[in-house]
Amino acid sequence: SLGLRSYVSAVPITETFNAKKNANGNYTVTLIPGDGIGPEISESVKRIYEAAKVPIDWESVSVTPILKKGRVSIPEEALNSVKKNTIALKGPLATPIGKGHVSLNLTLRRIFSLFANVRPCKSIVGFKTPYDDVNTVLIRENTEGEYSGIEHTVVDGVVQSIKLITRDASEQCARYAFKYAQAIGRNRVTAIHKANIMKLSDGLFLEVAYEVSKEFPDIKFDDVLLDRACLHIVQDPALYSDTVMVMPNLYGDILSDMCAGLIGGLGLTPSGNIGMKASIFEAVHGTAPDIAGKDLANPTALLLSSIMMLRHMRLNTYAEDIEAAVLKTIADGKHLTRDLGGTASNTEFTNQIISKL
Ligand code: NAD
Repeated sequence: SLGLRSYVSAVPITETFNAKKNANGNYTVTLIPGDGIGPEISESVKRIYEAAKVPIDWESVSVTPILKKGRVSIPEEALNSVKKNTIALKGPLATPIGKGHVSLNLTLRRIFSLFANVRPCKSIVGFKTPYDDVNTVLIRENTEGEYSGIEHTVVDGVVQSIKLITRDASEQCARYAFKYAQAIGRNRVTAIHKANIMKLSDGLFLEVAYEVSKEFPDIKFDDVLLDRACLHIVQDPALYSDTVMVMPNLYGDILSDMCAGLIGGLGLTPSGNIGMKASIFEAVHGTAPDIAGKDLANPTALLLSSIMMLRHMRLNTYAEDIEAAVLKTIADGKHLTRDLGGTASNTEFTNQIISKL
């Protein structure tokens, strides 16, 4: 065994998934192919799912920005599809830098109150990286913090960005982290913060996490400053392999990319955006404009995100089969995509996965 059956935790992430099967006896899942490499890696997932006979019918919708009441938003068709199906797999969406429309990723997270973003990161046995013992699970508050989008120019040359932290969002996220720890069999939760500097905002996040920890007497709770946590993880990632880290939005965004770097890069890291009414699974990476349209992208991150989704839907057998095939393909080392040091195209890599199902 590669010892990797649970690359992504083998538990339904919430009990909220209660979608009904459609007339074909399958589940309908919204697919948002997205921009850049999104359509290529989505196609790869679709091919693998077809080969693995996963009982899912995809409802593909486009998320191009539209203007609604003077604000940029997401087409109704896409929103209605996610609302109806309660579950979606999403490719990356481009966000203009420094100007232009708001992030549609953030818009989706807000519209569906996707309060927690789960980002597991585990070394792949057989794939050599500077570390071979990374097994971090990071939960990022997903709706506020520095990503609240409240920014304005005070006077010329002076701008203000508001970091918003609320008791409600912090509590929901912290409670989810404890439940998640219970579900994956870890008995420790660690809050990551900068409450030494951001005394009020991170202070509130930390205070709430401490309060919530009292509801879970069997789980140890500790907290670590973000800078210290970064240092620890690059020195000895194993220090964090028995805990579930929980943190405000921006820190989770950055720390999860750092963890991704330790195991072979963004081509490998999945995530799930969890809400009570819908959940959206997506790779941690973006649209990779530098390689888009060239059949060079690594579809693993989106595929592993879809495996988190399958477990969320309690389709565990399919999750295990596909996971074993992708991990074997990587451990095999003969058909790796360029980001992993190989020369295979996305299509060749995908064919290898299919041949191992
Ligand atoms: P990126 O993740 O798109 O790319 C960073 C680097 O990683 C690039 O060199 C890229 O080629 C490589 N890479 C990423 N995914 C890969 C894959 N699957 N296979 C092989 N190589 C891969 O980050 P960026 O360039 O900073 O962002 C590009 C766009 O993506 C921006 O518009 C940004 O806003 C958006 N973005 C979207 C999401 C999302 O939709 N959730 C997340 C992050 C960035």
